[in-house]
Amino acid sequence: MQLRTRSHHGLATKMSSSAQVVGENAGASEGAGNLLSVNNIEVIYDHVILVLKGVSLEVPKGKIVAILGANGAGKTTTLKAISNLLHAERGEVTKGSIEYDGQHVQASSPNDLVKRGVIQVMEGRHCFEHLTIEENLLTGAYTRSDGSAAIDASLEKVYAYFPRLKERRTSQAGYTSGGEQQMCAIGRALMSNPKMILLDEPSMGLAPQLVEEIFEIVNELNKKEGVSILLAEQNTNIALRYADYGYILENGRVVMDGPASSLRENEDVKEFYLGLSTAGRKSFRDVKHYRRRKRWLG
Ligand code: ATP
Repeated sequence: MQLRTRSHHGLATKMSSSAQVVGENAGASEGAGNLLSVNNIEVIYDHVILVLKGVSLEVPKGKIVAILGANGAGKTTTLKAISNLLHAERGEVTKGSIEYDGQHVQASSPNDLVKRGVIQVMEGRHCFEHLTIEENLLTGAYTRSDGSAAIDASLEKVYAYFPRLKERRTSQAGYTSGGEQQMCAIGRALMSNPKMILLDEPSMGLAPQLVEEIFEIVNELNKKEGVSILLAEQNTNIALRYADYGYILENGRVVMDGPASSLRENEDVKEFYLGLSTAGRKSFRDVKHYRRRKRWLG
């Protein structure tokens, strides 16, 4: 499958010949079994601040899809539009539509969406600091009505994926490490029995080894439990190693998308998002130069 570019702005304007524009209907799935389709959405905050401008993306069942882009590109806004959490931020989807499992998400409350299987893990982890790890995990089951035996089984499953959480089950979350809190946030999401997790910046503020450990577990969850993942990440390198497909957002628009393996090999992605080029890793000075060049070209 080829990469495709979508916009006149940013990265898309300087695509190398290795990337080609292909038909609008090709996407993450090429038409097969999408769990989520975001169709040309526009998001406005406070009635005036236009943040997303015609964003479309797809998440096929059972896949890991990454939304990549710099600080402020619109990744979190996209996730919040999907989980219907924008109202709390005075944001609104003013154009386009979002369909999860064949139904418009705009018609469901965030609570109902959790019951239908979509859960968001917020950027910055957001554990309840005064509760223990286990109490935090149990709060994730609040929408379930399938009884305590099923909830206990889910808890054991979370502990099987995150043995560190089992070790720290009685510790107050506020006293655990950043990595453990991130694991707790993902574990809490798992307690809702999700079909799809919207994972916002799981690498944020964590040491590389921990980031790797967390991505390994997320990958295992995806492969063994079949949970679909939509991942927002600034860490392009790690995201493209684990994702099946990626979308690059710049200034609220998708400027390029394609299979993760093709994005990893694309010269522009290497240059602007991975800090690499065919000549090898660039020095910090070079990177600064390219950032400047990118701003001009954008
Ligand atoms: P980050 O990694 O920093 O979270 P991001 O790609 O997730 O970046 P968003 O948080 O979606 O980006 O922000 C996109 C743009 O929308 C930014 O310019 C931001 O300032 C703006 N924005 C985000 N939330 C609000 C809000 N509640 N009100 C007004 N503008 C907002």
